[in-house]
Amino acid sequence: MELIFATGNPNKLREASDILSKDITLIMPKNLGFTGEIPETGDTIDANSEMKCRFVFNLFNKSCFADDTALEVAALGGAPGVYSARYAGNEHNDAANRAKLLNELARVNKNNENTRSARFRTVVTLIHKGSLYTFEGCMNGTIAEKESGDKGFGYDSIFIPDGFSCTVAEMTDIQKNAISHRGIAMRKLANFLASL
Ligand code: IMP
Repeated sequence: MELIFATGNPNKLREASDILSKDITLIMPKNLGFTGEIPETGDTIDANSEMKCRFVFNLFNKSCFADDTALEVAALGGAPGVYSARYAGNEHNDAANRAKLLNELARVNKNNENTRSARFRTVVTLIHKGSLYTFEGCMNGTIAEKESGDKGFGYDSIFIPDGFSCTVAEMTDIQKNAISHRGIAMRKLANFLASL
C-alpha cells in the first residue's frame, strides 16, 4: 500500500517508517513534485494536523496522513504549544526555538515557579477511502537546564522524558520511538492500518 506522509521533515519520515509495516510505502509530497509549504495556520494541533492532511489529500487524491506536534511547558502556561515550530519566529529555526524556551523558563523560574515539567503531544490525522481518523500520543518529562545530545531534532536536546536521566537527543531512534508522543500515535495508526 502507498501512503503519503504530509511532511517535509525527513526525521519524522524516518521515525514513521520504523514503525509502520514494511508493506506500506511512505511517500513525501516533495517526491510527487510538490515544492511549496503545507499550511498549518490553525489554533490547535488537532486543527493543524487535519489541515495538513486535507491539503495534501486534495492535491493528490491518495490516502494520506499528517502529524502535528506541540511542546507544552507547564510553567509557561502551555507555551509554546501550537506555536512550537514558530516560537522564535517564522523561520522555524529549531536552535533559536530551544534557546528562547530555555531563556523564558529561566526567567519564570527566577520569579516564582521552580518547575520545568512539560509534555509533547502529537495528533496524527489519516484520510483513507473517504474517511478521516485521528490518533494521539503524549510523552511527559521535564525541560533540561541546558542542551545535551545530537540525535533527533526540534526540542529533543532539551527534553528529558519521565523515568530517564538523558535527553531524547541522547537516545537512539528505537529508544525514542518506544516512548515518544509520535511513536505512540504512529503505533495506533499502524494497528489501525493492519486491521483494514
Ligand atoms: P510540527 O509538528 O512539525 O509542526 O512541529 C512543531 C515543533 O515541534 C517544531 O519546532 C518541531 O521541530 C518540534 N517537534 C516536532 N516533533 C518533535 C519531536 O519528536 N521531538 C522534538 N521536537 C519536535
